[in-house]
Amino acid sequence: SEAPAIGRFDNSYARLPAGFHAAAEPARAAGPRLVKFNRELAAELGLDVAGIDDATLAAIFSGNAIPEGAEPVALAYAGHQFGHFVPQLGDGRAILLGEVVDTTGRRRDIQLKGAGPTRFSRNGDGLAAIGPVLREYLVSEAMAALGVPTTRSLAAVTTGNPVYRETRLPGAVVTRVAASHIRVGTFQYFAARSDVDAIRTLADHAIDRHYPQASEAANRYLALYEAILARQAALIARWMQLGFIHGVMNTDNMSIAGETIDYGPCAFMDEYHPAKVFSSIDRHGRYAFSNQPHIALWNLARLAECLLPLLHDDPEQAVPMAQEALGVFLPAFEAHYVDGMRPKLGLTSARDEDKALVKGLLETMAAGGADFTLTFRTLAGDAALLPQDVARSATRKLFADPAGFDAWARLWLERLALENVSAETRVALMNRANPKFIPRNHLVEELIAAAIERDDFGPFHEMLAVVTHPYDEQPGMERYAEPPQPEERVLQTFC
Ligand code: AMP
Ligand code: MG
Ligand code: MG
Repeated sequence: SEAPAIGRFDNSYARLPAGFHAAAEPARAAGPRLVKFNRELAAELGLDVAGIDDATLAAIFSGNAIPEGAEPVALAYAGHQFGHFVPQLGDGRAILLGEVVDTTGRRRDIQLKGAGPTRFSRNGDGLAAIGPVLREYLVSEAMAALGVPTTRSLAAVTTGNPVYRETRLPGAVVTRVAASHIRVGTFQYFAARSDVDAIRTLADHAIDRHYPQASEAANRYLALYEAILARQAALIARWMQLGFIHGVMNTDNMSIAGETIDYGPCAFMDEYHPAKVFSSIDRHGRYAFSNQPHIALWNLARLAECLLPLLHDDPEQAVPMAQEALGVFLPAFEAHYVDGMRPKLGLTSARDEDKALVKGLLETMAAGGADFTLTFRTLAGDAALLPQDVARSATRKLFADPAGFDAWARLWLERLALENVSAETRVALMNRANPKFIPRNHLVEELIAAAIERDDFGPFHEMLAVVTHPYDEQPGMERYAEPPQPEERVLQTFC
């Protein structure tokens, strides 16, 4: 049905050739109900929603009413899923409403996720249950507040329709906002069809949209590839600094724009372990925490394969160009990673031995099963200790083997002493780099259960408010900062 205008749509992707997308029509929601609308994000997008009531917002963001100017399409893409290439995936449970240019001039996609089947649904129902919708809303907004490039969440709506998974669950739709939905897998879709013209069209679109400076380079497609690599290196470094595990780093879940995308079985670690895996479908640990930079590299090599015909007419010249570009990825990642770890340890200057200091702490944390987030947050309170006083450290209580921590802490305090920084400045620096609140798994599960079992969204709203201010002390909200009790631990996550 008709909906009021909410903004000026300009659908550049829908104007690309027919093979890039398929028209899509959202399924009818029997009784849409607004769970959450992100008014701050709406303002940033320049949407005009001030006079629109909740029932109308629920109609729009369930897909029942198509806003003026929207042009719903599902996008074509392929992808390597757990290393196996699937030549056609596509938006099976997502429908792009269209694009708007936000108040800062950036073009943004507005997409309904869970609004029913599309041309690309294969055997899927195109729907989403309330659990994954609440998780995506909460985790993506937490990531944004943590300063991580990410897709955003504009709305969460329950549809009033049932969704059948292991059981009958309430259906829901999350509205995702992204710089674009172009993935490594989008390039792979056309490469698998040997459609070089389409690859070039897609690359030109990506340059216009995300990397306009690449158009000035001698080889614009090489410049595009290098720019994508650079953003991914920075992105994965942020994940690794926060203990974030994406969980399904398939090539179809890697955005060309450098945003975290597709919050399925993702999780923040509680107890630190580099080999940690949550996803129930990741049986071999392909997407384990410490493997993420290497998987990003692998995915980017797949992207290079798609771009080879654009890099040079002669493959013998194109291949070394791509290899050289790819060779920059891991060093760039490492540099971002160590740079971002320094403020977490209270360091304002750079020294070669800092990398070893970071590594030493992580090894001690892994040996002692220390909580990732809490360890870093608590360190600020120890930064003024003298090396001989490490026994008074509050952080050491988080370690099963305090002696291991003590040895590290002495080195750390000696390193801090080399810097002439006031205690206040150092603590402030550390508290801006080490969040107190991340969306802890056991609490996410708890708020999903409250929504399903009691139709109670109070816990969702409360936790959302907490995790979108991750660096603030928030007295009274300590429960959200605490690691799970042994019996509360979430061992597996599901898509
Ligand atoms: P994901 O694991 O979310 O990255 O999804 C991988 C592929 O499966 C994508 O092509 C999705 O569109 C598709 N897919 C996932 N869930 C569904 C569903 N319920 N219905 C249709 N397609 C789906
Ligand atoms: Mg996906
Ligand atoms: Mg997913």
